[in-house]
Amino acid sequence: MPDHYLRLTNSRPGRFLARRLGLPQPTPLRRWSAEHPGLDGPVLHLTAGRSTTDPAAVLARTGLTVHTDRAPGTRHSGVVLDATGVTDVAALGEVHAALHPVVRDLDDHARVIVLGAVPDPLDHHQAAAQQALEGFVRSLGKELGKGRTAQLLRLAPGSADPAESTLRFLLSPRSAFVSGQVIEIGASRHTAPDDWTRPLAGRTALVTGAARGIGAAVAGTLARDGAQVICLDVPQAETDLAEVAGQLGGSALPLDITASDAGERIAAALPADGLDILVHNAGITRDRRLANMPGDRWSSVLDVNLGAVLRTTDHLLAAGALRRDTGRVIGTASIAGIAGNTGQTNYAASKAGVIGLVRSLAPRAADRHGVTVNAVAPGFIETRMTAAVPLFIREAGRRMSSLGQGGRPVDVAETISWLASPASSGVNGQIVRVCGQSLLGA
Ligand code: NAD
Repeated sequence: MPDHYLRLTNSRPGRFLARRLGLPQPTPLRRWSAEHPGLDGPVLHLTAGRSTTDPAAVLARTGLTVHTDRAPGTRHSGVVLDATGVTDVAALGEVHAALHPVVRDLDDHARVIVLGAVPDPLDHHQAAAQQALEGFVRSLGKELGKGRTAQLLRLAPGSADPAESTLRFLLSPRSAFVSGQVIEIGASRHTAPDDWTRPLAGRTALVTGAARGIGAAVAGTLARDGAQVICLDVPQAETDLAEVAGQLGGSALPLDITASDAGERIAAALPADGLDILVHNAGITRDRRLANMPGDRWSSVLDVNLGAVLRTTDHLLAAGALRRDTGRVIGTASIAGIAGNTGQTNYAASKAGVIGLVRSLAPRAADRHGVTVNAVAPGFIETRMTAAVPLFIREAGRRMSSLGQGGRPVDVAETISWLASPASSGVNGQIVRVCGQSLLGA
């Protein structure tokens, strides 16, 4: 469903009208393309407090032009503020001193990344200062405008190198619809792909619900990044599924994921050396207020969105089908699972359940199987699902965010591809919202 308002306010008469009426004027996002794969200008690397890490080497490896001084008149496409050494209120003043002179001179679509430390449960001064960074970044994301984004990256000790894939993602047009996020990077073995433009080369991925919408975009993006993709969807969608898989040189697996033998049938469809990336994307809505919701609407949503995710994940892990070290399980939650939504008690319960699954399973899956478990939580994404939403609610969903527009399936797909990378082994147990910093559940 095209966003007519975004188109109008970016035409000359529409811009004039919006300015006169004081209406919001969202900036169309700049996404990744083969012609425009990176940021336009240099990145500024600043420090507040006594840094406990050294991101300079990692930043140098990204191939971006990095400045450590602010030359007058230079506009930057990104700022990385190392605030890992901010341990008290006084050092928070250095955060202000570093960024206050800079924010006005950022390019449109610029990226601001604050590197923080994990709040220390045994040091309430450090914890207060580090938690303060979260409120700071989320507020800055709301102020920046013009397609600019802000994130807080919390680095566990020894995780500067494993943060490379995350820094590359966040300092690129691939993360256009991700803003106001707090992402924790754990210490892990650092692996760099041979070719950062095809980080998934040699990997096998399975995407559920791949016949259309977000799932088709995920399959396409994983294939673009080098993966061999198995596309799964219900047998009724077989024609579309075969078309998506065919275009990507992948294979189609028509299967209802709620089938009692779904785990066995997925395992049987995998290559002999197993699966690297399992993307649980299939999902349904059956909206009604709880007072009007019959039991079958409740149970079908819970079974597709959560029950089947739990069963197939358990089966594939127990069968050893997910490859050690490169194994990735990626769920699809929703901001409805964080904020709740009228008429969606079933859907929100299922999506909150996905978040619970990720948080609980992630540490154990890493220990026992060498597999990471994360989820994306999309906000308003332009798909058939949201085209069915009534006009007024649809408009509110689009505008009630820092970026002032809906996302596209590819925004979710880019985020999943970053989580899926063998270089992202330090990212585990994270729920990353792909929502343009929606006000819902913020
Ligand atoms: P969609 O309805 O366009 O596509 C969902 C796909 O899942 C369909 O192809 C469908 O056939 C498949 N599917 C449904 N039940 C299945 C089953 N039992 N077995 C196998 N496949 C099944 O939806 P979408 O908008 O692309 O959403 C994809 C995911 O993203 C869903 O989990 C959804 O809840 C989540 N999400 C979407 C939005 C949004 O704004 N569109 C927001 C938050 C979360």
